[in-house]
Amino acid sequence: MSATIIDGKAVAASLRAEVAQGAAELARRMGRRPGLAVVLVGSDPASQVYVASKVKMTREAGMESFEHRLPEETSEQDLLALIARLNADPLVDGILVQLPLPKHVNPGRVIEAIAPGKDVDGLHPENAGRLANGLPGLAPCTPMGCMMLIRSVVPDLRGLNALVVGRSVLVGKPAAQMLLNADATIIVTHLDTVGLPALCRQADIVVVAAGCPGLVRGDWIKPGAVVIDVGINRLPPEPGAPKGRIVGDVAFDEVSEVAGHITPVPGGVGPMTIACLLKNTLTAAERRFAEASQARAA
Ligand code: NAD
Repeated sequence: MSATIIDGKAVAASLRAEVAQGAAELARRMGRRPGLAVVLVGSDPASQVYVASKVKMTREAGMESFEHRLPEETSEQDLLALIARLNADPLVDGILVQLPLPKHVNPGRVIEAIAPGKDVDGLHPENAGRLANGLPGLAPCTPMGCMMLIRSVVPDLRGLNALVVGRSVLVGKPAAQMLLNADATIIVTHLDTVGLPALCRQADIVVVAAGCPGLVRGDWIKPGAVVIDVGINRLPPEPGAPKGRIVGDVAFDEVSEVAGHITPVPGGVGPMTIACLLKNTLTAAERRFAEASQARAA
């Protein structure tokens, strides 16, 4: 193996420590802790685990966590009413609605109901537009984490070729915007892309968010490239095992023979997502406090 492993756990731990320090300083100035409201509708087991982990890490970072667990049958109207209350609540700096939502609720309507300044998942169209225009806003957590991991090994992306596999609103598209904003030259690929391996071979940086285990192979990679694997896929269980292994979208063993740097799954992008959520909550709180201070001074 020639690639150096990018340790997402370590980068995430240092980001969380930085956020905790910032949260403590802000709490002294505001007279209260920054607050994150997490809304979970229904009892999807994976969502329960994610929410529990978000709540725990929010508290560990010295921030207030407000949990709203609603039954599966909650109506869209009731959920929108809760969002309106959280938008108006002065103690709430960030609002996160755990996805996926039950089928009878339109996720787009719910996301658009969140005040953009409290949209710590960075999914509101206003925040997506701000990212596209290179304006300050709140950016989606997973691609933000990818960028931090890339910059931990390549601080200056100017002029580099970057390729993103996947164009979801959650990961692929914002990752491409962030790479472009960092002056890389980008190629965005998806299921209809023709000749993905040849395109991939041109890239100095490859970000893969396809949800397709082992999609990116060793002979797709330019020697020395930085490879960021966002995928989280559970394989079918081996005979006798209760659960299958979690793997990424990159054929790790092959790709690490060629790449310069690579993220593992698990332990790469995954830990960065929650750390970036905490960072966004702190940013949202700082901006709200600065706006309130300006309004008082005016
Ligand atoms: P998605 O299904 O919304 O989008 C997948 C994208 O990949 C689509 O644009 C599709 O066109 C493209 N794609 C799929 N198969 C492809 C192929 N064979 N060739 C080229 N393009 C292909 O998924 P998503 O929400 O963006 O998530 C992608 C993966 O990242 C999933 O495995 C998901 O679990 C994981 N994920 C991880 C984190 C994290 O914190 N690490 C966060 C979000 C998503």
